[in-house]
Amino acid sequence: MRYYSTKNSGQAFSFSEAALSGLAPDGGLFIPQVIPRYRETAKNSLLSMSFPEIAIETIMPFVEGEIPGSVLEDLCAEAFSFDAPLVPVNSGLDKPFSEPALMELFHGPTAAFKDFGARFMARTFSYLRRGAERPLRILVATSGDTGGAVADGFFGVEGISVTILYPKGRVSELQEKQIAGLGGNISALAVEGSFDDCQAMVKSAFTDRRLQEQLALSSANSINISRLIPQAVYYSAVAGKAQSGRCDSDGEATPRTASARGTAAGTTFGSSAPKTPVTFCVPSGNFGNLTAGLYALSMGAPIAGFIAATNINKTVPDYLESGEYKTRISRATISNAMDVGAPSNFERMASHWNHAELRQMIQGVFVTDDETRQTIKEVYQNYGYYLDPHGAVGWTAVKKTPDIAGNVVVAATAHPAKFSETVESITGPTPVPAAIKKALGRTAQAETIPVDLSALRDFLLST
Ligand SMILES: *Cc1c(COP(=O)(O)O)cnc(C)c1O
Repeated sequence: MRYYSTKNSGQAFSFSEAALSGLAPDGGLFIPQVIPRYRETAKNSLLSMSFPEIAIETIMPFVEGEIPGSVLEDLCAEAFSFDAPLVPVNSGLDKPFSEPALMELFHGPTAAFKDFGARFMARTFSYLRRGAERPLRILVATSGDTGGAVADGFFGVEGISVTILYPKGRVSELQEKQIAGLGGNISALAVEGSFDDCQAMVKSAFTDRRLQEQLALSSANSINISRLIPQAVYYSAVAGKAQSGRCDSDGEATPRTASARGTAAGTTFGSSAPKTPVTFCVPSGNFGNLTAGLYALSMGAPIAGFIAATNINKTVPDYLESGEYKTRISRATISNAMDVGAPSNFERMASHWNHAELRQMIQGVFVTDDETRQTIKEVYQNYGYYLDPHGAVGWTAVKKTPDIAGNVVVAATAHPAKFSETVESITGPTPVPAAIKKALGRTAQAETIPVDLSALRDFLLST
């Protein structure tokens, strides 16, 4: 597969070049020349394939000629050691049920959907860099949320070390432990400044001549194509199940009250006849997750369309309605991983599809904080299920969308215990999954540095 920049379709790149450089030389995002189609046999057996098998079918055409099948098998088995169960909001009924079901994307080690992309990217980098003379040094700035997924994704991965910069005192205790608690090939720097300062320091490190000469530096941010492609996998896997109205049992991390737990196995959902393709509702910020869903649809997974749910940072819903794309300064909300006024993946969506095509595939809906809180309360009271603020934006968006034909699945992007302050003020204590307990048991070990490139340079050259 060849890749092109969203800014200039002239120059072609390999998957390896696109993945390892992250951003194209002209500042654009990498997109594949074409979105491949599933083989008919694969499309017809989504329901019977395992999650790693679907991952191989999905990812293979994107990496053909660069990652051999046997290697991809190993990468997928390691990266996707957990899956994305499709669970009904009420586990107790054995009758078909018309509420949306949840695609739980938080069964990974940091309890949010970014684990899928980060774990695949890390192992892919390691393979693509095999035999390189110098180890790869990844530099990442985080405001708290993505840092944990990147740290965990790269932890223990051969030939790569990671340094994460975060604003000291401005991330939660859990986030700090996820970023700075692993040790080994992951180091953390607590910067005496803001997230913007961290980001500016990382940027200047990439253009620093001394660092460039001595280290093989790379980034691992969310616009990397090797993080996007693996996110298409769960849409296809869950679309296969949802089309037949078949749900999974609760997993260890499924956030339910004890009394609502227990009888989900074999539960069906859906108000319409089976065989209707599903509509996914995707809580969105930078729109990577939704773009991956559009890839799954284009590949031929049985998906009717998408609801793009945002908080009041509604740049994309406004664009879908008006055809005019106007970015703006982001505003703070309780679903803060989606506080994005200029979604980076929009460029990708707009390169693949025009406004009319996007409108055919996506309905945009925005949700306020008050509505989000109300939803967390209602879903808890009615079903004993704890939604996190991002999943709750998705749930609310479905309720605000009239006339959806067929089954609806809401992407639950994070475990509620990750946003316990907000959720617990509404529901009382939430269950805490094993992955979060494990992270909370660690000790954060970060070196504190001032906002100063030379401090960062010294650290990188001495470790
Ligand atoms: C990152 C994130 C989102 C937004 O995903 P995008 O791909 O940026 O649209 C939504 N929910 C949670 C919990 C996240 O961490």
